[in-house]
Amino acid sequence: MFRIIKKSLSTGVVTGQYPAAKALSEPVSREAIEKAKPFRRSLTIREVDTGSCNACEMEMNALANPVYDVERFGVHIAASPRHTDALVVTGPVTVNMERALKDVYKQTPDPKLVIALGDCAINCGMFKGSYAVTGPVERHIPVDVRIAGCPPRPAEILAVLETLRGAPADRDK
Ligand code: SF4
Repeated sequence: MFRIIKKSLSTGVVTGQYPAAKALSEPVSREAIEKAKPFRRSLTIREVDTGSCNACEMEMNALANPVYDVERFGVHIAASPRHTDALVVTGPVTVNMERALKDVYKQTPDPKLVIALGDCAINCGMFKGSYAVTGPVERHIPVDVRIAGCPPRPAEILAVLETLRGAPADRDK
């Protein structure tokens, strides 16, 4: 126990100590920001993996660690699409996940945002042309926001979520 206390004291506060986000290749549109208005104080997201290599999920999961601590901005992760404001979809849409993606989309209450996370979700990335892939996310459901990268870093994901909330990420709070 003393070892843990000593480590905590010597480490100090790490929250907010992350690299600055790079400029997005596709900025968040005005329409998406307008659509996200009801979620400014609280945004609940659900991640849907339609066939990714899992690296995009790992970057997404990093948002919950003490460095990024996304909950301090009112962003929560839901276990059910029925309690969700925004779907974050990763990976190209594989044959086996096409139906599931459409079902999850239908189960998410309106108004809902769809965020395509990573190159695979946007344009199939390195899986383009595979017999197991039916296309990018927007071929199956409407996409509001695209976050490019392979994988995008948590800082960029957080910057987009903050833009949707209408506030630049305050890295010191
Ligand atoms: S964009 Fe890159 S990291 Fe993300 S699922 Fe595709 S291959 Fe993996």
